[in-house]
Amino acid sequence: MVTFDAPLADKTYLRIGGAADILYTPADTEALEDAIVRARETECPVRVLGAGANLLVADDGVDGLVISLDGPTWRELRTNSTSGRVTASAGVDLPKLILRVVGEGLAGIEGLAGIPGTLGGAVRMNAGGRFGEIGDRVTSITMIDATGQQRRFTTEQVGFRYRGTSLPDGVITTIELQLEPADPTVLRDRVKDVMAYKKRSQPIGEHSAGCAFKNPMVGGERISAGRLIDEASLKGARQGGATISEHHANFVVTHPGCTASDITGLLRVVWDRVREVHGIVLEMELVMWERGK
Ligand SMILES: Cc1cc2nc3c(=O)[nH]c(=O)nc-3n(C[C@H](O)[C@H](O)[C@H](O)COP(=O)(O)OP(=O)(O)OC[C@H]3O[C@@H](n4cnc5c(N)ncnc54)[C@H](O)[C@@H]3O)c2cc1C
Repeated sequence: MVTFDAPLADKTYLRIGGAADILYTPADTEALEDAIVRARETECPVRVLGAGANLLVADDGVDGLVISLDGPTWRELRTNSTSGRVTASAGVDLPKLILRVVGEGLAGIEGLAGIPGTLGGAVRMNAGGRFGEIGDRVTSITMIDATGQQRRFTTEQVGFRYRGTSLPDGVITTIELQLEPADPTVLRDRVKDVMAYKKRSQPIGEHSAGCAFKNPMVGGERISAGRLIDEASLKGARQGGATISEHHANFVVTHPGCTASDITGLLRVVWDRVREVHGIVLEMELVMWERGK
């Protein structure tokens, strides 16, 4: 399905930002390949939308084609509780996948409980935290690259790194995971513990898009960007409808009337101040979509 001038705010966790010039939900892989080939021929930029849990769309929206892997074709899931092998389409919801495999007694991704988004988005971002990363369990991914070709990558070729991969531009369509048989009761308890930790340490229940900045490497060690922001006395700092969370200083939370430029303005203040106070240059984790970029 194609929609022109399609509002994106409701498709992101921040609930702000403008429209996509073209929003396209391909019916199947062939339609996706065709769309990418046509976009390339017309030099039309292509972006991929997951669940929008790590995304900030500019107030005046985005140019080109936004591809959304919404719909049943993109939520196919096969699990094998004996072998531990899981094959999932990229649009599968990560929290639902975790509940499903935990219920089937498969261990390996329960530590990612509480991370919203699709499996495709999680792979692209190598989502994770204190209790592991999705890349730890991925054995292969299939994607349609920027030329419209289907390509398969093994874990080594994906090149998982902290909050990213070495994958080329394109749309991840299928992911294979290797999990391990385990006691579902133990796994459920583990999910409860992880969720309790998340509730204690993150502003769950407010509008945010997860961590704004990556944890920087300092002296060979990754240190908490939230701590640096807190030490720069920025908790509670506000610009328009955007605030640095009192709960976790690396989260920007929004209030009614918040705009994307309120958030980018506030993040600029944080970036400047952390550099001034600590001499550390922070890198964005939040993905920003702007016209012409
Ligand atoms: C309350 C809250 C807590 C969070 N906690 C964590 C956390 O603990 N750890 C963590 O790592 N993240 C966390 N996040 C961020 C977010 O959940 C993850 O980054 C998530 O993996 C994003 O998935 P998504 O489907 O929403 O991707 P989107 O936000 O839609 O997109 C993110 C990026 O992935 C790309 N992408 C999405 N789908 C595909 C695809 N199929 N093929 C190619 N590229 C694709 C997009 O183009 C974009 O560049 C949190 C977010 C919130 C709101």
